[in-house]
Amino acid sequence: MYIAKNLNTIKSQLPAHVTLVAVSKTKPVADLMEAYDAGQRIFGENKIQEMTDKWEVMPKDIEWHMIGHVQTNKVKYMAPYVSLIHGVDSLKLLQEINKQAAKNNRVIDCLLQVYIAEEESKFGLDKQELDEILSSTEIKQLKNIRIVGLMGMATFTENKNQIEKEFKHLKTIFDKFTIHNSQFTILSMGMSGDYQLAISCGSTMVRIGSSIFGSR
Ligand SMILES: *Cc1c(COP(=O)(O)O)cnc(C)c1O
Repeated sequence: MYIAKNLNTIKSQLPAHVTLVAVSKTKPVADLMEAYDAGQRIFGENKIQEMTDKWEVMPKDIEWHMIGHVQTNKVKYMAPYVSLIHGVDSLKLLQEINKQAAKNNRVIDCLLQVYIAEEESKFGLDKQELDEILSSTEIKQLKNIRIVGLMGMATFTENKNQIEKEFKHLKTIFDKFTIHNSQFTILSMGMSGDYQLAISCGSTMVRIGSSIFGSR
């Protein structure tokens, strides 16, 4: 019961242009089904194996988003069904996604992950690497992927000013690229602790786990 309630509370706070990804990693299928029965159709997972196990047993009108770091050798397992891959951080990975998408006669939507935090541990591209990928000749040959926007994670800190600074930085980068690229429509930023701030900084997609499903 609490999952449906949490979900409805959060949905009632989201502006219409913001998409909610319910982050269900580590949670059992019964919990996801409670969210599904309450109307949720987009779920985010951070491990390909776990996402695939859930995809196999759950209703087929669900959109599955991969929000974790992706290992190249595992792309093939999600290529038949994944809707959006948030954490793409190299041309090599894009090439593998393209190859596996082609095998499945699909075009897979991807977000490029940008490094905005002041932490060593977070993955992502810096501004220059992003420029290089987006202007490369290789990328134009990848017909089975579509880069539809950017994703970022702020520093894990209580300091709201710091987080806001990082979100605004990502929004500035996003706006620069949208000018040249009409496919660029998604800015994925914001989690349970900071999604309101992320929305005020221009997020169009929030990834919320613990505020819906409880702590992990
Ligand atoms: C786990 C995770 C989330 C959700 O985090 P919560 O704090 O539980 O909302 C969002 N994005 C990514 C990339 C994650 O790994």
